[in-house]
Amino acid sequence: MTETLQPKEYLLPVVPIRDGIVFPNTEMILTFGRQRSVASIEAAQNTGKRVLFVMQRNQNINDPVPSDLHGIGVMGEVVQMLKNEGEINALVRGLVKVEIGTYEAIEPFFVARGYERIDTVEDDDEAKALFNHLTTQLRLAVKLGKTIDFLTFMNIMSGSIPLTLSYQLASILDLKPSERQELLEMNSVKERLSKETFYLSREVKVLELEQNIASKTQAKFDKNIKEQVLRERIKTIESELGENEENKEIKELADKIKKAGMPEDVRKKAEKELSRLAQMSQYNPETSYVRTYLDTLVELPWSIATPNNVQIKDAEKILNQDHYGLAKIKERILEYLAVLKLKNKEEEEDEKEEKKGSTKKEKKGHKSSPTILCFVGPPGVGKTSIGKSIARSIGRKFVKMSLGGIRDEAEIRGHRRTYVGALPGRIIQGIKQAGTKNPVFMLDEIDKVGADFRGDPSSALLEALDPEQNYAFSDHYLDVPFDLSDVFFITTCNILDTIPPALRDRLEVIHFPGYTEVEKFHIAKDYLLEKQRSAHGIPEKVVKLTDPAVYEIIRRYTREAGVRNLERQIAGMFRKVARKIADLGKKKETFHIAPPDLHTYLGPAIFTSMLAEKKDEVGMSTGMAWTEAGGEILFIEVALMPGRGVLTLTGQLGDVMKESATAAMSYVRSKHKAFGLNDKFFQKIDVHVHVPEGAVPKDGPSAGAAITTAIVSAFTKIPVKRAMAMTGEITLRGRVLEIGGVKEKVIAAHRAGIRMVILPKNNKKDLEDIPKDVTKDLTFHFVEHMDEVLKIALTRKLQK
Ligand code: ADP
Repeated sequence: MTETLQPKEYLLPVVPIRDGIVFPNTEMILTFGRQRSVASIEAAQNTGKRVLFVMQRNQNINDPVPSDLHGIGVMGEVVQMLKNEGEINALVRGLVKVEIGTYEAIEPFFVARGYERIDTVEDDDEAKALFNHLTTQLRLAVKLGKTIDFLTFMNIMSGSIPLTLSYQLASILDLKPSERQELLEMNSVKERLSKETFYLSREVKVLELEQNIASKTQAKFDKNIKEQVLRERIKTIESELGENEENKEIKELADKIKKAGMPEDVRKKAEKELSRLAQMSQYNPETSYVRTYLDTLVELPWSIATPNNVQIKDAEKILNQDHYGLAKIKERILEYLAVLKLKNKEEEEDEKEEKKGSTKKEKKGHKSSPTILCFVGPPGVGKTSIGKSIARSIGRKFVKMSLGGIRDEAEIRGHRRTYVGALPGRIIQGIKQAGTKNPVFMLDEIDKVGADFRGDPSSALLEALDPEQNYAFSDHYLDVPFDLSDVFFITTCNILDTIPPALRDRLEVIHFPGYTEVEKFHIAKDYLLEKQRSAHGIPEKVVKLTDPAVYEIIRRYTREAGVRNLERQIAGMFRKVARKIADLGKKKETFHIAPPDLHTYLGPAIFTSMLAEKKDEVGMSTGMAWTEAGGEILFIEVALMPGRGVLTLTGQLGDVMKESATAAMSYVRSKHKAFGLNDKFFQKIDVHVHVPEGAVPKDGPSAGAAITTAIVSAFTKIPVKRAMAMTGEITLRGRVLEIGGVKEKVIAAHRAGIRMVILPKNNKKDLEDIPKDVTKDLTFHFVEHMDEVLKIALTRKLQK
């Protein structure tokens, strides 16, 4: 019987272990780094490789003394060892349990004298039952996912006896260090096995809970870790089944990349991103960015283009079909298309030659395309709709992007992908929207592009438009170049002044001057009425709008250079008609609309009195201005009051206009004698010049003549002819200088009911551009000097 044997005595080097036990009959790999431990292991090499492993009571102690160690340890054998930079990795095997008696040495390592502790091995039914139960439970635990080294598991299952099983289990169960030590210190194998039954069933329970996701007790576990583990499992299961959603998506994307017709380097980039995506966990937030990026890449029309077939004859037909008048503009556009066609032909021939292998010619990096069209004009004059017609006439897609208010370069060129919510810039978005690489691309309101600290959008714009560079346009988001050289860019703006010179240089400007009353009448009759009728679902021939009614709408319900409001008013009229038709039910009726009926359909007239109907007044003149919205007439009012010779200017006047008012005042003072004023007249009087409609900013020098006339009229008390509009910059000597925008100004004056116009002599040449149906109603006076202006504009002669 084992109990009767004398326990063996050992003198062994001691190796403290922070939180583990090398149980008898088990093996493990340990790493020793502490000086004493290393010294012990090395010393053991000379003494049969035996050492005594003892666990620390507190694992956090770095340099334990004997009292920090448990009283019972295990003598073990260092089976193999590997020294590595002062550390020792060793495979150790536990042999027998030893109870420490005394420590014989402390330095350079602990040496302890101890006695073997031999367990009591019970051989009763209970012990057998425990043994059987434990092996079954262990099998179950493994089935539920307990991880055990396979060899250990095999060892346990094939031929363990209760004693060895009790130690093997103690080393593989999920236990706290103190629980392990307790197991080690037990003398009875049955007792140890029975305690292990408890621990093992606890573990099995935990594993079962883990499997049962619905179980509320899962909160016991670290939620994140658990979720991750489960997700990984799902992923593995799905990939086992071979039908992973992610895989499907990756495959689809790979397919799309193949079919997208990308250039070589772009395809490579896309494939690289795709493989990155494939490797990412589905739950990595970055996947959605990569996916959106790839979606954008594959959706871009890298090699989709509508064929080039510009037939000038057809284009002309289409432009005429869609638009009334605009003869000069259409002519310019057709010329432009003809040049485009010739260039295309040339390029095609070049390409053919290149294909034939003629090596003489250097390969062109880009296509040479003509400069970019720029339509300049007030709103509603047909810029967009001409653009659409161009697209239709050359069989290309049409896209329009408004650049109004853009201040950030990234709006044009995109945000880098590192930004959250990054998107491609508007150019690339437009191309994506068009779905072809050669659409007609209208960039609206390029005069409204501003620059600030976020970079200069116009330089990005320039890069997109410049045929020298745009074959490899770089969008920050795309990160790969896109070829824009086949895009037919058209830009539009209201004024040219605010466009940066570098950009302006590239533009081939076509002016849209605004329509005359007669032109508007024809546009309404031939286009807008029909368009709005069908848009409102009103049957043909139900509405009969008389010609005078059309003119009435133009004159009394709109005042604009274009036809946008006119179209709106017509739409309003048809809405009312539609409502009436609906109310009538099945009864049929036709609607005759003459001028007196307009009140019912459109409400009271918006512009009640025509200028020509107003009285001539003292201190009030009519000027002509040119604004973004086209031409405009201005009323200049001058009031005199007792004071000290102060000149006040109001009505949102710009600096240039203020200067011109000051110059006008100086001119009047210097010529006071001619106006019959005494030389001190100015000292006791304040002059207030006001230009009403203060909300509209006004600027420019061209109101000089009108301001001077109003001031002279105020001082001399001679009224100014109200239906006489004038424009011209003046010098201090009274010379009248040439100004710009004559065409728009004259059309606007005509629209307002003016019948007499004073223009600087040097602007005579501009009359050519003005439509005949405007000039025929007007009398023009061309002048060089203020004297002439006053002679014509004032109702009476000045007394000398
Ligand atoms: P813009 O782009 O210059 O602001 P739009 O092209 O939007 O102006 O024109 C406004 C409306 O007027 C559109 O419905 C357009 O078809 C119509 N329109 C403008 N000019 C003409 C024209 N010459 N003939 C026929 N319709 C016209």
